[in-house]
Amino acid sequence: MKITEVIAIPMSDPIPRERQHRTDLGTRVKSDAVLVMVKTDEGLTGIGASLGSPPILCAVVEHELAPALIGENPMYSERLYEKMYNGSRWKPALERGHAQPGDGRRGVTMEAISGVDIAIWDVKSQIMGIPVYQALGATRDSVRAYASGGWAPGDEAEEEMGGYAKKGFSAVKMRVVGRDGFSIENTIKRVTAARRGIGPSVELMLDAHGSLDVTTAIRLAKQLEKFDIAWFEEPISPDDHLGLAEVRRSTIIPIATGEREFTRFDFDDLFFHRSVDIAQPDIARAGGFTEIRRIGSMASAKGIRLAPHAWGSGVLFAASIHMAMSAPNCHILEVSQGYMPMMYELFEEPYDIREGVVYAPQKPGLGFTLREEALKRFEYIPGPEYIF
Ligand SMILES: [Mg+2]
Repeated sequence: MKITEVIAIPMSDPIPRERQHRTDLGTRVKSDAVLVMVKTDEGLTGIGASLGSPPILCAVVEHELAPALIGENPMYSERLYEKMYNGSRWKPALERGHAQPGDGRRGVTMEAISGVDIAIWDVKSQIMGIPVYQALGATRDSVRAYASGGWAPGDEAEEEMGGYAKKGFSAVKMRVVGRDGFSIENTIKRVTAARRGIGPSVELMLDAHGSLDVTTAIRLAKQLEKFDIAWFEEPISPDDHLGLAEVRRSTIIPIATGEREFTRFDFDDLFFHRSVDIAQPDIARAGGFTEIRRIGSMASAKGIRLAPHAWGSGVLFAASIHMAMSAPNCHILEVSQGYMPMMYELFEEPYDIREGVVYAPQKPGLGFTLREEALKRFEYIPGPEYIF
């Protein structure tokens, strides 16, 4: 079995004007993804997906990564990951047993490597005839999910978050900055409404998208404690691991972060500084199945739980399901409540999500088939995802 072709296809999912709204990130006008296909000489094709800027990612996949993979056996997934990560020095890196990365250790190169690695695991599991999570080593066949959304302003948070609970979710996440902007008073008002809507027993999480400074995050956390918050996500910039440790030490609310970190080395630094209780690597950014599995193991050694960030295309969500079924310390999985046809209408098969629980797909590989019209429907639209 040999890899014969590696293809990257840019994709966009435009958001209709009436569904667009302004948050701390700006106004989102579309969602982008890059679909990666790894083809083999025996007719099997694996699919993967990357986050990030599609034109740059496609160039990295086709010009930098594909030449290193053509002719290789997809069963050697660890070797292929090391080849992509170490670049021209992959041979001495493997012979001497330590990493010797090239220039592309973070950013789009890692996002491209992540997408390719997902596709390699898809095709590798298809060869074995089993779902990816069983190829990784299965822990479970279902996992508790949390509804991820919560942008409603003021008292409207009661109905929005209560609606997620009514769908059967036992955990829900809302944004710290709602459509009505940010102040501590405003967030407290929205959280009060949300708690009213979901009742006392549904878990409530908050996500600040890294938008606060350390002192504001600490002041907010102190006022949030009485609402029994399950985690406070990305309170401050992901670049300030020490600042995050300060926030963590100042509150009883568990801290979650990691969706914008790359590789096990970034997570090692987060763990070293004791900055985090729940690690949230994104499989399409942190390094695919190969690297996120290492991150999960490192986290478990520190008693840190794993909750993969799963906000993106259907391929990313499918890959995240398999990760959640495999990692023993993954206690919960994100299920987006945003407007996301590229997540929910990319495949022939629907996801099996019932009463707030996600069930594992049982077909070989990722277990999902692209809809025939998918590539045309999600044709790439140049330009940024957010307008400010
Ligand atoms: Mg987040």
